[in-house]
Amino acid sequence: MSYDDTNIFARILRDEIPSVRVFEDDDTLVFMDIMPRADGHCLVIPKTACRNVLDATPAQLAACMATTQRIARAVMAAFDATGVTLQQFNETDGGQEVFHLHFHVLPRHAGLSLRPPGKMEDMAVINANAEKIRAALAAI
Ligand code: 5GP
Repeated sequence: MSYDDTNIFARILRDEIPSVRVFEDDDTLVFMDIMPRADGHCLVIPKTACRNVLDATPAQLAACMATTQRIARAVMAAFDATGVTLQQFNETDGGQEVFHLHFHVLPRHAGLSLRPPGKMEDMAVINANAEKIRAALAAI
């Protein structure tokens, strides 16, 4: 399977479609999931092309992991979370829908299940949650 640079996240990287960004460095970008399965659900992606962990380089994976840890700590603080779930899917049969490597970061609370996938969130809620993450990142 080869990388197709018309995928949604490649288009977000090129600013061809809007996203609510919360963090970026030289190698990674973090933005809010538009169908969040928990408040604060965001996605960490490399800025360079790869489909998933199967074709990623060690450098791409290392950069994503360092950013994922940073965001996991930030969402714990931002949402007074008591846990954090990371998800990552590979190819269609592994549950992947967008074919640019990404890591889901999901703040969790005791007794609260993840919401079902596929429900668009109100943009005002997404923007407010993004601002909480940005504030937590600034305070870390
Ligand atoms: P996966 O490929 O890991 O199954 O999931 C892709 C994720 O991307 C889903 O959680 C979905 O809600 C999210 N997503 C799909 N399209 C868009 C989009 O246009 N913008 C944003 N921010 N997230 C998206």
